[in-house]
Amino acid sequence: MASLPRVVIRPRRARPFFARHPWVFVTSIERVEGDPAPGDEVAVVSHEGQFIARGLFNHRSAIRVRLYRWEDAPIDEEFLSGRLAEALALRSGPLDLGGPKSAARLVFSESDGLSGLTVDRFDRWLVVQFTSLALFERREFLIRRLVELTGAEGAILRGEKGIPSQEGLKVEEGVVAGTLPEGPIEISENGVTYAVDLATGQKTGFYLDQRDNRRAVASYARGRRVLDLFCYTGGFSLNALMHGGAGSSLGIDTSERAIDLARRNAVTNGARAARFEAADVFDTLERLRASGEKFGLVICDPPKFARHPRAVEDAVKGYLRLNRAAVDVLEPGGVLATCSCSGLVDRMLFSDILGQVAELSGRPIQILEQRGQAADHPVSASCLETEYLKCVIARVP
Ligand code: SAH
Repeated sequence: MASLPRVVIRPRRARPFFARHPWVFVTSIERVEGDPAPGDEVAVVSHEGQFIARGLFNHRSAIRVRLYRWEDAPIDEEFLSGRLAEALALRSGPLDLGGPKSAARLVFSESDGLSGLTVDRFDRWLVVQFTSLALFERREFLIRRLVELTGAEGAILRGEKGIPSQEGLKVEEGVVAGTLPEGPIEISENGVTYAVDLATGQKTGFYLDQRDNRRAVASYARGRRVLDLFCYTGGFSLNALMHGGAGSSLGIDTSERAIDLARRNAVTNGARAARFEAADVFDTLERLRASGEKFGLVICDPPKFARHPRAVEDAVKGYLRLNRAAVDVLEPGGVLATCSCSGLVDRMLFSDILGQVAELSGRPIQILEQRGQAADHPVSASCLETEYLKCVIARVP
């Protein structure tokens, strides 16, 4: 294919791409030969003209080329189909995430060699998110193939914060294949049943990345009063009550809609000791501190604080303030399970923040477990940006 446009990398900048990092930023590019349209396939070559990989081009994005194939062969439907099949094989094979009412992330973007595509399955329905223009342009094929491979009854397209403007994407949310039931559907995770709102819930409807952490944190709950901060639809609370033998739980989230679903989930599962309140976490922590209320297990799972490198400094301050306040309502010997889903705040930095919390609160913090995202959100060793979730379980004497 002599006619394929070529993207030539600047001198001494090709190393990461030989090493299979899939993001070619505009700053690494010397020149583009030919006139690729947005979404077109290109060959990426070193300054010396050596072939590196095939990718898809988008002149609107700072990630000018996303790489998919490290051999000189086309990124066609057959190739994409193979990538999808491989992603599905992991979830149904080694991870064994199938079964009635189960839910799993089927495709996790770079980690599955499909930069810009994320797919979650909730029982018999798929929620699809595109974060790259090129794969979005191939959506008809990708969605059709996904439905064929999974036998799903329907698929819905959801947007992702901030991405459309970065990529020049115009995502119209809504049903794109088959049919979806009216209202929330039901899934079962760790033996807990949840109502999931595929059309209007946050992100893809449910935070599947915390599946194993909900279980792990529950094992510290026995007999304790649990405070579940940023509880969404109640996942950590319900695991702590149903699997961990917690005495009671209080879940806090600003979203009224999430709190409604959390209460409904508590009823469905017969978790009578669960309480949920729609409120701001920072206000609630201040109120609890003032009234001297204490908890034996505090779970803290805030939304992403840092979406951009410039935001890291403020994010660190936010985590510091939040965890300091969380420790203040923890009884002596209590357990803090604290999370961060900001990839830009790495593990070391997050642990360092907890060190500062220890200093400020005058209490030691003993880290018992350092956990990450569930295995259906694999980390690509070639693209460490795919590691984003930290869940630290610590004892605070
Ligand atoms: N722990 C949840 C996921 C939390 S996602 C689970 O296991 O499913 C983060 C949540 O924080 C969202 O539900 C969002 O509504 C909520 N949130 C964001 N800012 C908040 C604030 N200031 N106070 C309370 N909740 C907040």
